[in-house]
Amino acid sequence: MPILRFGSRGPDVKLLQSLLARIGYNPGAIDGIFGNQTQQAVIEFQRDNGLVPDGIVGPATWNVLQKFLIGYDVYTIRAGDTLYNLARRYYTTVNAILTANPGIDPNYLRVGQRITIPYGIDVVFTDIDYTYDIMERDIQGLRARYPFLETSVIGRSVLGKNIYAIRLGRGPNEVFYNGAHHALEWITTPLLMKFIENFSKAFSEGRSIRGYNLANIWERSSIYIVPMVNPDGVDLVLRGLQPDNPFYQDLLRWNNTGLPFSQVWQANIRGVDLNRNYPASWEQAKSQEPSFGVFGPGPTRFGGYSPLSEPETITIANFTRQHNFRLVIAYHTQGRVIYWQYLNLAPPEAREIANLFSRATGYAVADVPYEAAFAGYKDWFIQEYRRPGYTFEVGLGRNPLPISQFNTIYANNEEAMLLGALV
Ligand SMILES: [Zn+2]
Repeated sequence: MPILRFGSRGPDVKLLQSLLARIGYNPGAIDGIFGNQTQQAVIEFQRDNGLVPDGIVGPATWNVLQKFLIGYDVYTIRAGDTLYNLARRYYTTVNAILTANPGIDPNYLRVGQRITIPYGIDVVFTDIDYTYDIMERDIQGLRARYPFLETSVIGRSVLGKNIYAIRLGRGPNEVFYNGAHHALEWITTPLLMKFIENFSKAFSEGRSIRGYNLANIWERSSIYIVPMVNPDGVDLVLRGLQPDNPFYQDLLRWNNTGLPFSQVWQANIRGVDLNRNYPASWEQAKSQEPSFGVFGPGPTRFGGYSPLSEPETITIANFTRQHNFRLVIAYHTQGRVIYWQYLNLAPPEAREIANLFSRATGYAVADVPYEAAFAGYKDWFIQEYRRPGYTFEVGLGRNPLPISQFNTIYANNEEAMLLGALV
């Protein structure tokens, strides 16, 4: 992690501020600017944790913060420890410790035994820029807490970042949700990650969510989630163009908008719009490009030089082929609508299910606008399988949506994510 001090700025400062607030300090506004109040909060944190209280977040301070970032500690049992006492000391519950340590016998803790103790805080960040690093760490934190989660790396981006899939449930009815095909639409990543966390937490406590019996979903279905299809693009948007980027010069040329990447970049790192790169009327999508002023790689709407030319789309297509998905949802963020059709190939039930989703989310069921009618993931899925495939456009306003919309978006979408596994 980078050294942060008074005057530092950016997503890592936001992460620091959000974490300090989460564990009971007051860093001031979570604005990504390391000012006086953030410095004061760091000094207090350092004092409380036996660190040099210099207000600078260097390796030693990051090292202590890391445990809180991943949300658990690895603890070595001492004589006299009980799970009850440990739970109290970590502000957590006995159930949370039992969940994180399957097979542990609370009546026979062995001295020297190492166990995972989750802190009594949530893992997934929902109030800050959700970078690839944060996602990766949150996945690690969730896995430690909820060992029943199955996670895998299903492919890699152009720059070698992992494309993760997480599976909820063990049932034969397979469904697939994915987020952040489009870089500016990264808010769909914490949407899916928070769903994984809330589902796992409630499932481990034997609770239902919105009246849905999670144990039942777990038995019947497997919900596969790829929270970030386009990690290179997301980090370009959130961290800006870094000098060590191998496409540095190309990207400067490709972004001919005069606006910063953080406001315009939807594509992957090679300037290919991943949701126009699937082999479903791909040629038709290409033929539209000149009318958009698109003649090559760029921030948006360039479909590549051939269908499935990008490692990210190849990964998603292969993953789809390796499963038997009954239904898929691709999450995007342009307007509170649900798209369900492609060239009249969707099965009749797709419209009925879209109506159920509409009732759950409050979003309208819509026909796809001509400029987005081809070569998208859901188009390809419907074409290949003639099964229900959806694009959900969550939230309203100009991309990127502010993270302040997160709670509304989450509340709108949680039920549909449960429903999708049952319809
Ligand atoms: Zn989109």
